[in-house]
Amino acid sequence: MIIASNFKTNHTRKLTKDFITTVNKSLTTNTKSEVYIFPSSTALDTYETQDNLIIGTQNAYPIQSGSFTGEIGSAQLDEFDIKTILIGHSERRHILKESQESIVNKYKFYMNLGFTIIYCIGEPLKIKEQGINKILEYLYVQLEGIDTSYENLILAYEPVWAIGTGVTATIEDINNIHDVIKEKIDKPLLYGGSVKLSNVEEICSLKNVDGALIGTASWNKDDFIKIIEITKEL
Ligand code: PEP
Repeated sequence: MIIASNFKTNHTRKLTKDFITTVNKSLTTNTKSEVYIFPSSTALDTYETQDNLIIGTQNAYPIQSGSFTGEIGSAQLDEFDIKTILIGHSERRHILKESQESIVNKYKFYMNLGFTIIYCIGEPLKIKEQGINKILEYLYVQLEGIDTSYENLILAYEPVWAIGTGVTATIEDINNIHDVIKEKIDKPLLYGGSVKLSNVEEICSLKNVDGALIGTASWNKDDFIKIIEITKEL
């Protein structure tokens, strides 16, 4: 299983350090899952972790360094040996208005640097209401320009209407969408959107779900550790 925590705009450096240290200690030699934590940029650092606890960045600009106020580039990530990035998250697409073109540029840049990329796709509510064919059409547009044969790609299906809302997609919907995506792209495929302690086991038990990308329910370290525990044998 792949279990990923997206801190979004939460936790200070101090809290992040405590979170990572505690999660790291909780991983036992029989925790086969790969665990990812995406802290905010201010809390990126060199953390001593076990091999299966990987720290990534929620975002970065497709540049080594330069004049892009408010952004960070690959030189800042190299400093902490960060080699994992989230790209295409719905909050960046919809709130921060990142275009598919800029997402593709970012993807190509970090792919060429060999980063592990968790690439997010997902449809808004008005598309979901039009049925599965429209959903798939929408998702395929988000895959345009993306080299899905890239060896270090992990996909995440995250319906926009389920993110941070407490409303999770039904098991049937997750199953149907994951089956179709997996048939088209043979890469690890995570589900994200209001995954929590009470539903993570059922979701991660689905044949074509390889793990979960979790926001809200992962910000409490004890809950996150329980989520890792519950899913480690799946
Ligand atoms: C996310 O940020 O990717 C996410 C899935 O958030 P939440 O778990 O809060 O819905």
